[in-house]
Amino acid sequence: MNTNLKKGDNVQVITGDDKGKKGKILKLFPLTEKETFKIIIEGVNFVKRHTRPNKQAQQGGIIQREAPLAVSKVMLVCPRCNRPTKIGMKMLKDGKKSRMCKKCSEVF
Ligand SMILES: [Zn+2]
Repeated sequence: MNTNLKKGDNVQVITGDDKGKKGKILKLFPLTEKETFKIIIEGVNFVKRHTRPNKQAQQGGIIQREAPLAVSKVMLVCPRCNRPTKIGMKMLKDGKKSRMCKKCSEVF
């Protein structure tokens, strides 16, 4: 599971209707025992919602919003080699762990 993803990461969808689309992570939902880890990606997985006229919006209509996507459907796009990649973890000299691209070994 790509639980090492962070807000602002660029990801590519690897399966489903939006396969091949790239976008930036806008929001991450916390991992719980019952729920799958989900993320909202800018410009990906739009759903149409019908709204009724109300005080806030005088006219009803259809609005489009990004819907949460299971994290298992995306891969991180490496900022250096620009390819979808698995995330590795690398121990730094100061003992901290950092994420690493498994394709080009870039640490980010
Ligand atoms: Zn890379």
